[in-house]
Amino acid sequence: MSSAASVPLSQKFKLPNGVEYEQPLGLFINGDFVTGKEGKVFEVINPATAKVVGFVHEATAADVDIAVDAAETAFYDGPWSKMSAADRSKLLLKLADLFEENLTVLASIEAFDNGKSIQLARGDITACIGCLRYYGGWADKIHGKVIETSPESFNYTKQEPIGVCGQIIPWNFPLLMWAWKIGPAIACGNTVVLKTAEQTPLGGLYAAKLCKDAGFPPGVINIISGFGRTAGAAIASHMKIHKVAFTGSTLVGRQIMKAAAESNLKKVTLELGGKSPNIVFEDADIDRAVEWINFGIYYNAGQCCCAGSRIYVQESIYDKVIEAFKKRAEANVVGNPFDETTFQGAQVSEAQYNRIMSYVEIGKEEGATVETGGERHGSEGYFIKPTVFSNVTENMRIMQEEIFGPVCTIAKFKDLEDVINKGNSTAYGLASAVHTRSLGTAMEVANRIRAGTVWVNCYNSIHWALPFGGYGESGIGRELGKEALRNYTQIKTVSINLS
Ligand code: ADP
Repeated sequence: MSSAASVPLSQKFKLPNGVEYEQPLGLFINGDFVTGKEGKVFEVINPATAKVVGFVHEATAADVDIAVDAAETAFYDGPWSKMSAADRSKLLLKLADLFEENLTVLASIEAFDNGKSIQLARGDITACIGCLRYYGGWADKIHGKVIETSPESFNYTKQEPIGVCGQIIPWNFPLLMWAWKIGPAIACGNTVVLKTAEQTPLGGLYAAKLCKDAGFPPGVINIISGFGRTAGAAIASHMKIHKVAFTGSTLVGRQIMKAAAESNLKKVTLELGGKSPNIVFEDADIDRAVEWINFGIYYNAGQCCCAGSRIYVQESIYDKVIEAFKKRAEANVVGNPFDETTFQGAQVSEAQYNRIMSYVEIGKEEGATVETGGERHGSEGYFIKPTVFSNVTENMRIMQEEIFGPVCTIAKFKDLEDVINKGNSTAYGLASAVHTRSLGTAMEVANRIRAGTVWVNCYNSIHWALPFGGYGESGIGRELGKEALRNYTQIKTVSINLS
């Protein structure tokens, strides 16, 4: 056990790839790193070894109160409240530059803390940079309208920031989710209290230091480490937070919405789970489709809300695709996140590892066939072999529930009608994909699949300029693109009597 007294506010870290840096460990509140009010700390575990590698200070409800007060003061009274939109833009652009200068450190932290491969981690940081620049570009282009009603009145709308925003992020893309949340909230002129996931606190704290270096005034961006049931719940029910943005499980999403309803009716956006269909028609380029279905499920070790976890293949090519896909899945390099050739790193935690393995057992009990994988990879850390289930039916739990790991199902379909029915057969609706050479087929599927994103002849093609979010139980609202600005502004109507 460690206590707050023995855990410094920052510490030199040396990562397995030799990268050395100063890791902040305190809570970032009002522009400084501080200890938590209750003097608690919690463990940081390296998923590749299952070993404790350090401790960070823990926020509880008392720290959320302090952070919210700092954010409220910054919003109403501090330099932020008087800052021009152009200056807000400059700060975000500066932050993006600092991410770029620190790309190697940030990517290495992500690989260490989350267990993802270093090559994917670099991709995450590159996307963070793009996202922060994109919203830096928006900051001074947010405006209202003049609306004509009669000659006796002059009416206009303003798109105003909401105030203090609470942001709760998951562990699968610790820094990318940080950037998706911070970018639009800050571009619109809000202040934020962001809680990172308890499994992956390190990157968010390093990024907090970069916010300080970029010159954000104290209290504008507050980053806290802590648990969902304490710090997270305090954010969701806080009376002075007027908007909460959450990315995580559907189960917790419901709790967040309930807490928001029962407190001050804060505005809610939710980006939740998925069980996305990835559809291969007989006229597809099969080699390319197999690459995309592999990338669709095993990218980020399957820990993606939009993972293509239900693969549907047209009957006539089913046997051929399953053979090719099995070979492709087995060829993925699984293992040490810091090995440059690794594609699939570790699952984030023991709890996730156990959860995924329990779904493998459920699948077997339900009568599905394990085509490949279904077991641990290696002897230490939380690695799972890429797993494919065949012989599945729509009502099986492995076909309906989100597994959030490198496990997918592959099923047959007859024709377009059949696959539309099957594709739309879960409560989720985050993403989907169709592989075909026919424009007509692609567009019909795109029109009829009930999902927030449809990829055609690709997968995971996410870009900061493209709105992302879910139909059904996959969420409320859209992140990224211009759409995300709606989440962080409210419209004020001003009507002037000219008569
Ligand atoms: P997972 O089950 O994959 O860990 P969660 O949805 O539980 O995903 O976690 C996503 C984020 O939500 C994390 O930052 C976590 O701390 C937070 N969280 C979990 N439970 C709650 C809760 N009851 N209220 C607010 N936040 C929560």
